[in-house]
Amino acid sequence: MATAPAPDTAQTLCTLLDMVRTGKATTRPELGAHTGLGRKLVAQRVADLLAHGLLEEAELAPSTGGRSARQLRFRRRAGLVLVAELGYTSIGVGLADLGGELLAHHEEPTDVVAEQPEPLLNRVEELFDGLLADLPHDAPPLWGVGIGVLGPVDAAAGCPIPLSMMAGWGGYPVRKRLAERFDVPVWVDNEVNLMALGEYRGTPGHQADDLAYVKLGSGVGAGLISGGRLSRGARGSAGEIGHVRVVDDPSAVCRCGATGCLNLYAGGSSLAAAASAAAKAGDSPALAARLEAQGRVDARDIAEEARAGDPYCVSLLNRAGKMLGRALAALANITNPSLVLVGGGVAYSGDLLLAAIREEVYRLTFPSAAHDLRIELSPLSDRAGLVGAAFMVTDELLSPARLPRWIDAGSPAGLAEIVHS
Ligand SMILES: [Zn+2]
Repeated sequence: MATAPAPDTAQTLCTLLDMVRTGKATTRPELGAHTGLGRKLVAQRVADLLAHGLLEEAELAPSTGGRSARQLRFRRRAGLVLVAELGYTSIGVGLADLGGELLAHHEEPTDVVAEQPEPLLNRVEELFDGLLADLPHDAPPLWGVGIGVLGPVDAAAGCPIPLSMMAGWGGYPVRKRLAERFDVPVWVDNEVNLMALGEYRGTPGHQADDLAYVKLGSGVGAGLISGGRLSRGARGSAGEIGHVRVVDDPSAVCRCGATGCLNLYAGGSSLAAAASAAAKAGDSPALAARLEAQGRVDARDIAEEARAGDPYCVSLLNRAGKMLGRALAALANITNPSLVLVGGGVAYSGDLLLAAIREEVYRLTFPSAAHDLRIELSPLSDRAGLVGAAFMVTDELLSPARLPRWIDAGSPAGLAEIVHS
């Protein structure tokens, strides 16, 4: 009888570590039962992970009749990760542990679309320096940097793919620059992808292996998790639902050049323009009063006035929800998620928008794709992107392709073959 080949050591280490990290199995007997590996092999590999400081022993598991097994815990404070996200109108930075928990974070308004990469990344580095300077002297070492940027990203190369609206960013070596500056490995992805990842990995009990995260910002974008993995598409452009045509109207021209795009009806920029016009035309006394007091009105004003019952704002959000529902029904029919999470400023207008989205999605989605489909607000809210950036880094560092390259050194920091690979 042929014997099975000895499991690859790195793969086994990563599998066991992953099970403990995600809580799928937290004792040696559970690890054996879930992986089918023998008791001796599990004991050896767990001993390796304990010796390398990636796992630690915790309390005894509740007894199930026999002798209680010792629980194992991932050492999430073994290292730290610097995280950043560049949205349309703000930059956010943070410091996270290896379990995706934000230990500190900071956000500031910036016109990201109008900025070139140099000054913007100068500012990100300055904010990172500030976060590191505030750490106590006995803090864990920095293990990596994760950053989310606008537009499609070549995740393997760590740089944005050329996009006309972001002049200067196409091909800019974001990873190389930050890796040289901080001497740790760096990963880059699209900011909405990272929001999807943050919700998937950072919200225990709320996870679905097939989920779509929809960000309602200046434009509408989506991040897709399919079978537990981020789905980026061939050129990093998966999830660009803002440019799905939802209305057949040749006079409604999007800045992408096409007509009837979702962004024209549900994007924050378009909503703000509609609100401003309505205020000036006298269609909404509530918005007119806000325009008078603030000098401008935006999507948040619409959301707040809709909640207060202003008929114009209610109808504007209803239409936005309906159009979002159309695009999401198409998305649901094609990708069949079990969970759609809606986040971004406009999403927090109360139940009105969500109700309009749900109504249209359930009306238009094929019954088998609509079955068990939940549509909820994003639980992590504005932290989703930073949390996702932290998980992107730890998932990469602890993957079978990378872990063997640094585990014996105790930390990936400063190792040329992993920092600059
Ligand atoms: Zn468009």
